[in-house]
Amino acid sequence: MSDNLANKKNPVYSVVAPVFNEIGCVEEFYNQVSHVMSSLKSTWELILVDDGSTDGSTDIILKLAEKDDHVKPVIFARNFGHQIAVTAGLDYARGDAVLIIDADLQDPPEVMLDLIAKWKEGYEVVYAVRRKREGESWFKLFTASAFYRLIYRITDVKIPLDTGDFRLLDRKVVNVLCDMRERHRFLRGMASWVGYRQIGVEYDRKERFAGKTKYPFSKMLKLALNAITGFSYFPLQMATYLGFICACISIVAIPVVIVLRLSHQAALLGQATTLIMVLFLGGVQLITLGILGEYIGRIYDEVKGRPLYIVSRAPDIPNTSIRRKN
Ligand code: UDP
Ligand code: MG
Repeated sequence: MSDNLANKKNPVYSVVAPVFNEIGCVEEFYNQVSHVMSSLKSTWELILVDDGSTDGSTDIILKLAEKDDHVKPVIFARNFGHQIAVTAGLDYARGDAVLIIDADLQDPPEVMLDLIAKWKEGYEVVYAVRRKREGESWFKLFTASAFYRLIYRITDVKIPLDTGDFRLLDRKVVNVLCDMRERHRFLRGMASWVGYRQIGVEYDRKERFAGKTKYPFSKMLKLALNAITGFSYFPLQMATYLGFICACISIVAIPVVIVLRLSHQAALLGQATTLIMVLFLGGVQLITLGILGEYIGRIYDEVKGRPLYIVSRAPDIPNTSIRRKN
């Protein structure tokens, strides 16, 4: 990949990191990234997207930006969520290669060198695969593992297993992603969907440098639902399958009940059987309605056409077309 010749102002590498209440991490993160990127002898920028932090991380980001021109702060008006923060980072990134990395140092910045090496070999998407995860609860490990395998089975896009958003994207891929303005985003799925030459690089996921996870179970569930609804109709099709199964059972049951009645057997009598059947079918119908609701809610959100995020402060980038932000 050639250095950016067309526009000398654009850096070769953009590092994009979402920050949400990471006061204990953000400075050390900057130090480590800056150390790794300076060793490359190429131009680079670090886009720190502040996702509505309330713990003072914003001030640290702004101070870092004052001290070092490489740092470009994008400050959100409120918390919009990790996936949206990364999206804003991609919108503002100008590099030929864009590296997405968490700001809590769970993704070691030195692994970026391995990603860059693969990019130089000609791969457009280089994703980091978690070989080991340190310092995370069994619950997180179990749910994450189950989540990746479920998504792999039921979605139409083969999203690599045990892969988060830590990855390198070539400018071509970033441009495509910036044009995909869906609201309920699952970026790793979107990056797989794009295609191009993709490859994984293994790494050991570290413990958080400081603070606690910003992904409680409710946010994980939301991400999982976005992944499933964004890349699969399987839940909708399940309603059809369940309908067929119930219809088949009833067709078989009708002659059985008639024969039993004619032979004066006392089988299947009583209210309990009826009650259980009504509750069972009611449950299936409500679940199906809920699934429909998940999809309809997402359609409604798309139709409203609100901006994906609201920025209260962002770098003034001359001569670049900041991608459509809504
Ligand atoms: N994050 C964010 N907005 C959120 C939640 C998280 O920008 O609403 C950032 C967070 O600061 C971190 C990254 O996303 O840099 C990953 O979050 P976290 O480490 O909490 O997730 P985990 O690694 O536990 O899955
Ligand atoms: Mg983390």
